[in-house]
Amino acid sequence: MLNIVIFGAPGSGKGTQSERIMAKYGISHISTGDVLRAEMKNGTQLGKVAKGYIDQGQLLPDNLIVDMLASTLDGLKDSKGVIFDGFPRTIAQAEALKEMLAARGQAVSVMLDLDVPEDELMTRLLKRGQESGRADDNEETIRKRLTVYHSQTAPLIDWYKKEGLYAHIDGLGELERITADICRAIDAAM
Ligand code: ADP
Repeated sequence: MLNIVIFGAPGSGKGTQSERIMAKYGISHISTGDVLRAEMKNGTQLGKVAKGYIDQGQLLPDNLIVDMLASTLDGLKDSKGVIFDGFPRTIAQAEALKEMLAARGQAVSVMLDLDVPEDELMTRLLKRGQESGRADDNEETIRKRLTVYHSQTAPLIDWYKKEGLYAHIDGLGELERITADICRAIDAAM
């Protein structure tokens, strides 16, 4: 089983690269952001709670996200592996993922850190906001999300380095080159 964590700041290209990896390795893709947007669209209880946090650029509480992830994972019975996109975003979530996978006799294979300079992130997210109409892609909320990324999510870089699972990927430049670097890191972990 191939369990890949794709990591990076908002706008670093996790979703785009996940689609490519999914197709190449035939594994499933779990994007917590996509699951939450579907819940919001369907007007579920979780979706209503999520909207409050997402509109403020804040993370949802760990317990809500971990429960949601666990049920999504349970729904993927015969998968060859999973690419986790947007999860974990805190140390508590990384620990929960480790336990969840261990309980299934599995582990994370590699953590891919898509590294992109801050000014480029802002440019990409503002453009996405204009094109997709995603309400959280406005300048004020993007700034809050980047602050949250630095304080709550970036500490995972050292956490995964200690686990011996960290791979740095230069996320600036040609999509094809980035995908090739990602595939090399995955192949080295297999
Ligand atoms: P991006 O990577 O562009 O910030 P996502 O689509 O991954 O966007 O996530 C959108 C929002 O959903 C986040 O800003 C956050 O509020 C919420 N969210 C997604 N994943 C998590 C998570 N693992 N823990 C807490 N909140 C999350």
